[in-house]
Amino acid sequence: MPVPVTGEQLAVLNGQGPLDAALGYAALGWPVFPVAPVDLGTGRCGCKKGAACEEPGKHPLVHWTQRATTDARQLRDWWHWQPHANVGVATGQASGLVVVDIDPHHEGDLTRKALEAAGHAFPPTLTARTRSGGWHLFYLAPEGRRVANTTGSLAGVGSTPGIDVRGDRGYIIVAPSVRPTSPDPATGAPRFGRYQWVASDDALAGAPGWAVVGRPREPVTGRPAPSPASAPEKRAAAALGAEVRRVRSAGEGERNVVLFQAAANLFEICNTGWLDEAQVRAELTEAGLAAGLSASEISGTLRAQWHRKQGVVRPGWPARGGPGPRPARGPLPGRRAGLGEGGYGR
Ligand SMILES: [Zn+2]
Repeated sequence: MPVPVTGEQLAVLNGQGPLDAALGYAALGWPVFPVAPVDLGTGRCGCKKGAACEEPGKHPLVHWTQRATTDARQLRDWWHWQPHANVGVATGQASGLVVVDIDPHHEGDLTRKALEAAGHAFPPTLTARTRSGGWHLFYLAPEGRRVANTTGSLAGVGSTPGIDVRGDRGYIIVAPSVRPTSPDPATGAPRFGRYQWVASDDALAGAPGWAVVGRPREPVTGRPAPSPASAPEKRAAAALGAEVRRVRSAGEGERNVVLFQAAANLFEICNTGWLDEAQVRAELTEAGLAAGLSASEISGTLRAQWHRKQGVVRPGWPARGGPGPRPARGPLPGRRAGLGEGGYGR
């Protein structure tokens, strides 16, 4: 459970260096980790891809799902090694935070209006401006529920162009991180934007129900001894492991095709109920990044496949008791389907 804090208090971090800010977040109980810095002369990313990186300043420098921490000594070590590293915060179960990411460059502001008109509220809460003029709304994750990471659509809501949700096994870039925006149109010189907290009296509000669509989490205590995994459960885990390994080790010419095929196979298994969609997305995203694909390529492929595979069940797989195949999602009234846009956190 995060420590209570207002936007006014967080805005102090806007003017601090990355290490001091990271320590500030850690003091609130938010697990943090270093993210590739950007060279303010050239705009070049500090990740392995360097100048070829398509999403400068957003690649984790460590395996964040395991290593995001509130340990001050670890944070000092990391930022000693990379003093200008951007700051990432793990979302979902790790921090108790859910972030609604509104990107006006992908019509997120229009989507917000459409959602509000449909009765889906955006309660006032801790808010940051993103480097490109978007908004990150930080909410308290609901107790005992998984929160899926979503990109451009939400179960029960439909297509949400320009609005993503970061939940379990997700992360978000926070102030005072810097990332490039569009280059100067006259000179072509790189320009930069900074993530900044909005100084307001608002504190962390509970996440609105429409944004947290994950399934109930298994209770941690009072649970019967684990029963041996059923045959389909084992097969599903094995299929996930095998596809993730294939994507990770795919070469440059084939990696997008391999990801495309892996997503198709695994989403069909998700539709039987034997795999969790959020987990499949998270693992394929990590594997794709490791193979050198950009976050926007990966999210585009996953989104397209998820839409293609609505209700399609893998042959030879029994439906698991419970939700069964998911119904197809309709777009919001008057909104176009959100296929093919970029990644998240911009
Ligand atoms: Zn990079």
